[in-house]
Amino acid sequence: MSQPLLGMDLADLQEALGPEHPAYRSRQIYGALYHGQTTDLVQITALPASLRKDLAARHPLGFPEVAQLYRSADGTRRYLLRLEDGRTVEAVLMPEDERDTLCISSQVGCPVDCKFCMTALLGLERSLTAGEIVGQVLLLSRGLAPRRLNIVMMGQGEPLLNLPNVLKATRILLDPEGFGLSPRRITISTAGIVPKIAELGREAIRPKLAISLNASTEEQRRELMPITRKYHLKDLLEACHAYPLRPWEKLTFEYVLLKGVNDADADARRVVKLLANLNCKVNLIALNPGPGIPYETPAPERVAAFQQIVRRSLPCFIRKPRGLDIYAACGQLKRAVS
Ligand code: SAH
Repeated sequence: MSQPLLGMDLADLQEALGPEHPAYRSRQIYGALYHGQTTDLVQITALPASLRKDLAARHPLGFPEVAQLYRSADGTRRYLLRLEDGRTVEAVLMPEDERDTLCISSQVGCPVDCKFCMTALLGLERSLTAGEIVGQVLLLSRGLAPRRLNIVMMGQGEPLLNLPNVLKATRILLDPEGFGLSPRRITISTAGIVPKIAELGREAIRPKLAISLNASTEEQRRELMPITRKYHLKDLLEACHAYPLRPWEKLTFEYVLLKGVNDADADARRVVKLLANLNCKVNLIALNPGPGIPYETPAPERVAAFQQIVRRSLPCFIRKPRGLDIYAACGQLKRAVS
């Protein structure tokens, strides 16, 4: 069997079909895969039976397999997904009152060595294909109302180090003829791969962007996020200033609070200064602890005090941890911990 169908765009599908088939056939298959969310080629009854059989014989659909499903007391579900090559990756569904948020992965493991993140302990195994990224969304959103769906690429991996596949998947997800998601409802998050931020900004069809800031000085960020040695905080902020926001768009900065490390009032004041003149909001995340992570969570009062300071100048929210009891919260995605 060759290439899976999931992840193919119109041109790929046409190529898989061969030139003897008219273009409307590839459009029918594209629509069935991403809009109709078919789980079986045989269901695409608009296609001649012989073509369905022939396609199914040549191409798997390529859905990941659910190897484990962990359910949290708060309704969060963490999926351990097995890929074609036997590797596993995680994705999380967080049902809320107003919306359902899917947190999906861009890589198996992660090459960025952030000192507070459990995924970093895995290292990078490989990048995901566009089909594996789209497959997570199609699988986890089954049965959910599409209009309530919100997608964040904040699972395992650094999306900007897998940009071609991330963009290909995003284009399928945002295409009205494809999955049909609004660009306001998908966000990718980066540890700060500076040249790739500019590259993303040049794309006409792209998700929203979040930046994991996590520190208030160059020196502190080098320690917590060693990638800062390669891409300095100063240059990261410059790239943010140069980033072409759409009229409705704001940048999001995420800031993980580590007790006694980056959670002082002075840090909050420095964050405000760093982000001055940027059209942005700040999401605070109190550290989600885990084995192998040498930091502690600040008390809720400290988190609230930090928020108060930032909020005087910028919209600032505290992200509530979801699925802590099943290791599904930010920075905890690392398979084999159950
Ligand atoms: N590599 C990308 C995508 C992962 S997003 C990035 O760094 O942005 C994961 C988010 O969770 C990041 O904002 C990160 O700062 C945060 N995070 C990582 N470890 C965490 C932990 N232990 N507790 C709380 N948040 C954490």
